[in-house]
Amino acid sequence: TINLGQLEPPSARQRTRRVLVGDVPVGGGAPVSVQSMTTTVTADVDATLRQIAELTAAGCQIVRVAVPSQDDAEALPAIARKSPIPVIADIHFQPRYVFAAINAGCAGVRVNPGNIRKFDDRVGEIARAAQAAGTPIRIGVNAGSLDPRLLAKYGGVCSEALVESALWECSLFEEHGFTDLKISVKHHDPLVMVRAYQQLSRQCDYPLHLGVTEAGPAFQGTVKSTAAFAILLHQGIGDTIRVSLSAPPVEEVKVGAAILESLGLRERRLEIVSCPSCGRAQVDVYKLTEQVQAAFEGFPIPLRVAVMGCVVNGPGEAREADLGVSSGNGKGQIFVGGEIVATVPDSRIVETLVDEALKIAEQRGMDSDGLQD
Ligand code: SF4
Repeated sequence: TINLGQLEPPSARQRTRRVLVGDVPVGGGAPVSVQSMTTTVTADVDATLRQIAELTAAGCQIVRVAVPSQDDAEALPAIARKSPIPVIADIHFQPRYVFAAINAGCAGVRVNPGNIRKFDDRVGEIARAAQAAGTPIRIGVNAGSLDPRLLAKYGGVCSEALVESALWECSLFEEHGFTDLKISVKHHDPLVMVRAYQQLSRQCDYPLHLGVTEAGPAFQGTVKSTAAFAILLHQGIGDTIRVSLSAPPVEEVKVGAAILESLGLRERRLEIVSCPSCGRAQVDVYKLTEQVQAAFEGFPIPLRVAVMGCVVNGPGEAREADLGVSSGNGKGQIFVGGEIVATVPDSRIVETLVDEALKIAEQRGMDSDGLQD
């Protein structure tokens, strides 16, 4: 069994080699990127591109599409050409889809050469085609796909088995001189996953794609992914992340982006500093917070907005916010930079906050066209 005490102490960000996924660098000190996977049928080009656009708007930087059929493979050129972010083709067994993806101009392929070798040994050809096109390949190992040989050796799935499997998969490409690789070693248990990535990062310098696989529904998956990613990223391990949720992929992207923002690895856009409410609250804090969140979604400058349920502790607790409100007696005290600038009825709190935020945006010389009502 593993417990937190056995995990490694914090260390500096670990240096990995760099691969280029389209125009997004991964590894080698590049900013940690967020990725997700579409849930549309890839062959439905319009639906897939619509979902990619939605993911991009939420902060997704790399997107993966599943390629389980010939129709999907035939859709790749159009998707790769029209997608605003790099597209990775996810392929399990069929070498011909790998060649199709490379020829289609996909920015990367996720495929395990062990699977390819089992059915039709064209690993060398794939290595040469990927090398010629400059297409990186991700090797993705998880509990479900572990080689029976390793399951027998280790008596079941464990971090050591995941790592050995990943490095063996890499060796199948390395023997053909291909090293433009990224690796993932996913597990549904965050601690097994953390340990696998820690071990892997000691044994190779390939960029690492972090993921807790089959993490579950939104709440559980968010907690598991956050717990695992926070440990690893704090230790300097991980170059790109994918949060897996049994929920629409845009939610995965929002969670991934928020994790990076919380760890100071990506510039924070909107932060709502809202109180948990208590017996002193003089407003429905939950409702007001939701309204404020909706009003500021997509605001064009980074902002920290405080929503406090009472005037007793409100302003003091929210002093570091750019602006905020403390409620009391049917009114809201609006403060900017710690100073009270207005007192308005509850019904005008949100619009006044937005007005004040626009003034801040103007002062900072930023375009505020992106504001959504
Ligand atoms: Fe309670 Fe006021 Fe603090 Fe909110 S700001 S938690 S209402 S004391």
